[in-house]
Amino acid sequence: MSSFFNSAKKTLIIFIIFIAFICIFFIPFASSANVSNENLNNETIFLNPNGLIWPSPGYTKINCPFGKRVAPTTGASTYHKGIDIGAPEGSSLVAVCDGEITFTDFLGGGGYTITLSVANMKISYCHVNPNFIIKKGDMVKQGQIIGKVGPKYVYGVPGNKYADSTGKPTNGATTGPHLHLGIRVDNKYQNPLDYY
Ligand SMILES: [Zn+2]
Repeated sequence: MSSFFNSAKKTLIIFIIFIAFICIFFIPFASSANVSNENLNNETIFLNPNGLIWPSPGYTKINCPFGKRVAPTTGASTYHKGIDIGAPEGSSLVAVCDGEITFTDFLGGGGYTITLSVANMKISYCHVNPNFIIKKGDMVKQGQIIGKVGPKYVYGVPGNKYADSTGKPTNGATTGPHLHLGIRVDNKYQNPLDYY
């Protein structure tokens, strides 16, 4: 009987060692797989602890931070409800997280805009290329290319009241191609950099 318990104990110990082995060696790999490293334009982007990845791979310069500012162009807000990231026209924009596309259209000062929604969070990409490659209702994966940085000028947009000093109609309130990234949580604008 005692030899039965001894062998049961031995089996249990071996089992515990086996589980510990799995935890030590495999869980780090499993979680790094979850981290979803996407390789775009030879640029590896990592999921940060808050769960969002950077929207414009390869372009990280903040040209205008979140918060109070002097309006850079007529009609632009004096409270900047997002961040402006310097990225050239045509550069890729990726989904910062898994979610649903809930808006793809012209949106006043934001110009052509894509909104990605997940739970109580809405992420807006403004001044994008009007040739949308995704549509409202699409489910997208983190890292998926969902659009491109748009041109400075857009023509033939009904009701577009934005123009530069030469009178040419602009892609919302903008002085040149860039990404304006806005993040709302429960419909309140947050500083996107708080998530990075
Ligand atoms: Zn902006």
